[in-house]
Amino acid sequence: TQPLVEVRNLTVDYVGANTVSRAVNGIDFDIRPGEAFGLAGESGCGKSTVAFALARLTRLPGLVSGGAVRFMGEDVLSFSAERLRRYRWSEVSFVFQSAMNALNPVIKVSEQIEDAILAHRPRASRAETLARAAELFELVGISPRRLDDYPHQFSGGMRQRICIAMALALEPKLIIMDEPTTALDVVVQRDIIEQICELKARFGFSVLFITHDLGLMIEFCDRIGVMYAGELVEVAPASAILTAPQHPYTRALGRSFPPLSGPRVRLEGIAGSPPSLSALPEGCRFSPRCGEAIPICVRLAPELRPTPATGGEAACHLLQ
Ligand code: SF4
Ligand code: MG
Repeated sequence: TQPLVEVRNLTVDYVGANTVSRAVNGIDFDIRPGEAFGLAGESGCGKSTVAFALARLTRLPGLVSGGAVRFMGEDVLSFSAERLRRYRWSEVSFVFQSAMNALNPVIKVSEQIEDAILAHRPRASRAETLARAAELFELVGISPRRLDDYPHQFSGGMRQRICIAMALALEPKLIIMDEPTTALDVVVQRDIIEQICELKARFGFSVLFITHDLGLMIEFCDRIGVMYAGELVEVAPASAILTAPQHPYTRALGRSFPPLSGPRVRLEGIAGSPPSLSALPEGCRFSPRCGEAIPICVRLAPELRPTPATGGEAACHLLQ
């Protein structure tokens, strides 16, 4: 089957007055229909930059400077204004960490959801939009009796659910979620993620999921791409990220997160910090922090190659 999204050699720069830093350096991955694909990595590794490029939301000083993003085979980066409107309104929707703060405080949530529905189905009647709003509230676990409330009458978790309901109103094929539950407490987070899982199974949309919580990502995603300093270093089934990590950085990342079950162990952080994009090391970008580096690592950048052990791919000289 054709992937829903194909990212090919995607390159995104941040353009300053006298400098250009490459935030995303030629990455390749696919998102399959109905799949939840996660992007993992330390903050600043380029995950959100990739998400923005997929939604065609890159704004200066960010600039997509190379590569392609294809959605159902169509080239997203060359969409016309009209085609882009359709893409944004009915094919892809975005839920951010702070989405809940984007609700208009002086307008009842029912009206805000109805507006989202009308943008998608301009000819819907008032009765239809109301019925649909009630249905969406029920889908995300909020009583439709609360449709006439204002945003401040809801908790943060509920407002985030309302944003997810609005994202669903558009019946998207892809929902991009960048830290969608990070501002919420752990129990509410898990609850919302479980609900999104159910909705995904029911409606068959795909998800691009970004979170710093590797445990949550492994539970929720089918496959995970691990990014380091603007590059993908490993792509693997989620279950393999902890049980059979192939890349030294994936192993280090796994050791720095609490285990999903079993006894609590002391976490080893990853020594050192990611390189500045304006002073990247020669060869493998992870080499200054890698405990397994060999001489070639500081001379030659490794390329992503298939890893038979996981059925995924990794970029490391030790594997080639
Ligand atoms: Fe470590 Fe070398 Fe592999 Fe980079 S290529 S992760 S430095 S072993
Ligand atoms: Mg981010």
